[in-house]
Amino acid sequence: MTTYLDDLYSKLGSTYHAALLSGNLIFTTSDTQTITETEYNIEYEVCYAPALAKKPQGIPPVVEAKTHEKIERVDPFLPHDPTLFVEDASEHHKILLNKFCVVPHHFLIVTKDFRPQTQPLLPEDLLTAWNALQALKNSHPDAIAFYNCGARSGASQPHKHLQVLPITRPTPLTNLVREVIQRRPGRRETRPGEQFTVPFPCVHHAILLQDPENTPGKDAEDILVETYIKLMDNMLMSIREYAEQEHLSEEERNLVMGGGRASGLAYNWILTSEFMMLVPRRQESTNPTEDGIALSINSLGFAGMVLAKTPEELEHVKKTGVIELIAETGFMFGKDGEGRSAEEEAQKKKEQEVLEKQMGGALSSL
Ligand code: AMP
Repeated sequence: MTTYLDDLYSKLGSTYHAALLSGNLIFTTSDTQTITETEYNIEYEVCYAPALAKKPQGIPPVVEAKTHEKIERVDPFLPHDPTLFVEDASEHHKILLNKFCVVPHHFLIVTKDFRPQTQPLLPEDLLTAWNALQALKNSHPDAIAFYNCGARSGASQPHKHLQVLPITRPTPLTNLVREVIQRRPGRRETRPGEQFTVPFPCVHHAILLQDPENTPGKDAEDILVETYIKLMDNMLMSIREYAEQEHLSEEERNLVMGGGRASGLAYNWILTSEFMMLVPRRQESTNPTEDGIALSINSLGFAGMVLAKTPEELEHVKKTGVIELIAETGFMFGKDGEGRSAEEEAQKKKEQEVLEKQMGGALSSL
């Protein structure tokens, strides 16, 4: 039987070192600044990396050859750069180092055959990401896996790839989740398998994972698949509800529903060894300022790590606050009030106050 992901961290280390020395991997140094969101009392990270200002963004369109009906894809993962290949992660996936990384050892879990980045995660994708996190559990217990699904999710490559950041400290989101799931006055702790929310003012769904070691009758794959399906169901319900708001234009409604196609939906998926989260995306970048400044946001933004590539972007993040900014790219609560009646507005306000009260206790001690 073939075994996968044996000794992953040491293989990542040796491949990284060789690729860096040979110039096949480009590590960009960045200045990480911590921002405390006073409204939410959360510490967020802004990574300032001016050298990345020239990197192209957005999924490049599929290039169609003029003659024949052949479709030619510009695909950096097929064939892949052999110097970035770490090892096979499963029968269907290979691990490649991220060629342009800001965090050392940032790696991609790429499907061996071409599959589109608009495809939902399959059981084998979920399990491979989980196995990669488990393989790093001793060296990097706070590693985070993510998937930027669809055109407005912040993905830049059309070939299906999940990603893992082998980081040595919890992300701001992990810290926040650990706080939010704890027992507090007037609130019981969140139990494994249950849903929870964090104080993002936009639609998001999260579930605390059951531990496969302590869940009789279920293995890791069962738990991951069940969790993902539940989150997807809830996300679809939320965006359907959002789309049904009376004041939305037909165009907006269509955008929200991904043009009626599953592949038209965009969302960020985050997995740690503790929880899974989904955030549906309305747009790839934050709302442009008068000076045209807009930041591209991917899953890492929702993990609390935003990348600023110019001094203007950095300034904009500091001024607006990370939570407000990332929420602009999702489906925001309460910012769409134009079409609501006074009663609906009052009801929403009440719900918001309850939420803030519930969150307040947890957040004030962060
Ligand atoms: P995303 O932008 O989230 O779709 O992630 C794709 C990642 O692939 C980016 O972070 C790029 O830096 C990285 N990338 C681009 N070209 C290559 C390549 N030839 N080999 C490995 N990684 C690459």
